[in-house]
Amino acid sequence: MAVAIRADLADVPDYNIPRQTPDAVLLNANEVPVPPSPAVVEAIARAAVEGHRYPQWFSDTLVSRLAEVLGVPEPWIGVGCGSVSLCQQLIQAYCGPGDDIVCAWRSFDAYPVLGRIAGVAVRTVPLDSEHRHDLPAMLDAITPATRLVFVCNPNNPTGTAVRTQELGEFLDRVPDNVLVVLDEAYREFVTSPDVPDGIALALRRQNVAVLRTFSKAYGLAGIRVGYCVAPPAVVAAANKVSVPFAVSSLAQAAAMAVLDHPGEVRDRIGTVVRERERLHAGLTKLLSCPGHRAVPPSHANFLWLPLGERSVAFADFCARHGVLVRAFPGDGVRITVGLPEENDAFLCAADRFAFLAPPRGPRRVPRLT
Ligand SMILES: *Cc1c(COP(=O)(O)O)cnc(C)c1O
Repeated sequence: MAVAIRADLADVPDYNIPRQTPDAVLLNANEVPVPPSPAVVEAIARAAVEGHRYPQWFSDTLVSRLAEVLGVPEPWIGVGCGSVSLCQQLIQAYCGPGDDIVCAWRSFDAYPVLGRIAGVAVRTVPLDSEHRHDLPAMLDAITPATRLVFVCNPNNPTGTAVRTQELGEFLDRVPDNVLVVLDEAYREFVTSPDVPDGIALALRRQNVAVLRTFSKAYGLAGIRVGYCVAPPAVVAAANKVSVPFAVSSLAQAAAMAVLDHPGEVRDRIGTVVRERERLHAGLTKLLSCPGHRAVPPSHANFLWLPLGERSVAFADFCARHGVLVRAFPGDGVRITVGLPEENDAFLCAADRFAFLAPPRGPRRVPRLT
């Protein structure tokens, strides 16, 4: 008899792995469009020289450096193999069979998958009419079985953010025995003063963990390193269930190196923010025809087009014109901010999509010349 996979995993959806067609414009994975600087590549190469040695188990050097940069005591910082790994570690450390987790929907698609893998129930709470977390409804969704609540701020894939006051009120009401995980993968792209800095909040509470990553604004998605800022007991819990040596010495060195070049990161963020606003204006114009919902302002490095049933058709149309964007069937399309010329290519394709055409029946596809 064949070895059977756990029965409860059978209907867990597989991750939607972004396509990486060569030569296409890749606006489908929220990556930054520029490669690491030569100094970062050199730091990785230097670390490779010691590649026969195991890395530091808990990334101590990087933890110290982050403590300095963030102004946070070292025991409050944990490093992981990407912040997705830290999501998984926190679920694993705090939740078991019979427990549940609460998250918004749509939000990051890893939360329900990781919950199901851990064998816990996942309660999803619909976003409000402006594609934002409905925090009062999330509060209502918490049960005595709830161990952990994810708040993705800004939210992937809608780019919307919860405000300082509403988040403060939410945190005041969440029971002390429920951990609130503020996933701030895109925090560095926030320019609005009204969007909270989770780290400041976490430092004042016992049940808040903030997740940050080097994959987005820092441009190291392929290197795999992220961190959490949380009370020492929470960091210790996450560390307890980590895969041994999960964060490679190359990843630790790369993170140290990007932290040494804050100017490069700032410049990159500035470019993304400028292009984000340009894309938002362009898309708002395209969707100004009747029957379309507004394009929500984004606080991240991507935009959300709430196209509903036409989302897949739009993404396929863009793909045929050489631009890959990410469709969420029935909901919308997420477009990552790329280089100016990549964004132009996208706007050019979007401009040819018949937003006003009736949604049924086959349509003729205009070709880019
Ligand atoms: C990209 C992303 C992450 C970070 O992923 P890494 O594992 O650090 O690459 C975490 N949360 C959200 C919501 C994201 O979009």
